[in-house]
Amino acid sequence: MSGASEPVLSSPANSNLNVDLTGRTAVITGGASGIGRATALLMQRCGAQVFVGDFRLNPLSTAESESVGIVQQACDVQQLDQLQRLIDTAATQTGRLDILINNAGVNLVKQVTEVEESEWDHVLNTNLKAAFFGAKYAIPHLIRSGGGSIVNTASNAGLLPRAHDPVYSISKMALVGLTKSLALCHSKDRIRVNCVCPGPVDNTQMMTESLQAEPDFKAAHARYIHASPLARAHRRMISPDEVAAAILYLCSDAAAMVTGTAIAIDGGKSLGVPPAA
Ligand code: NAD
Repeated sequence: MSGASEPVLSSPANSNLNVDLTGRTAVITGGASGIGRATALLMQRCGAQVFVGDFRLNPLSTAESESVGIVQQACDVQQLDQLQRLIDTAATQTGRLDILINNAGVNLVKQVTEVEESEWDHVLNTNLKAAFFGAKYAIPHLIRSGGGSIVNTASNAGLLPRAHDPVYSISKMALVGLTKSLALCHSKDRIRVNCVCPGPVDNTQMMTESLQAEPDFKAAHARYIHASPLARAHRRMISPDEVAAAILYLCSDAAAMVTGTAIAIDGGKSLGVPPAA
């Protein structure tokens, strides 16, 4: 495993993906690292003009992204004026908007009795409110482009509640609900709205921080692998590229009739308790 500040390289699996996004404009929030960054690099390689918004732009990865033509913009999605500016900039500079990936997210590992109001606001505003308002700002542009695709990065925690991070689980469950609601409301506009629900993803800032907060880094890493049947079988966690590939599919013409879905990319974690090893 490596730190999230290292460049995310496209996996051999993704180098075979052949999806044509030429002429399409995509906005990705939280695109400076992890899943968002892998998605930005993949979409750009597929021909899209990609605009990344993040409040923590890493000079190394920014330079690499800009060298391949990805536009990076400082954006705190909790500041709705900044979120709107990111989306409007992409639409104005390219004359259209086709794809919005609401991906920026934060975790909070605390029991209900320990949670402060400010922490609730921080998680819900980032994971849920920003996705709602991102959609609000994007929809008029998507309609002008003749339709489009919104993908929300939810989580395995959006499918099954978890005991250790109730606020995060609530935010992601609500995000799955938001996805289905928007899908229903905007099918008439040819706007498809879906979400991905990853299990533990390695080589992300979020996972690195979670592991560093544990007393025994290696044991915690092994526990994450053990928690999902396929991860256990492959002896590794999910990679950001594997989530990016699912996001790419959902934004592609191959998914023209797919809306309101929540795709689990969790190695079977949400299926139930795996059999003993
Ligand atoms: P990450 O920490 O590498 O990426 C998250 C990005 O969001 C970071 O670049 C961060 O700077 C950005 N961000 C956070 N708050 C922001 C804000 N207010 N404004 C703008 N940018 C902000 O981790 P990741 O795993 O790639 O996370 C992407 C998404 O995947 C998140 O929504 C997360 O909840 C979800 N997810 C992650 C995992 C995992 O195991 N890593 C599992 C399930 C779901």
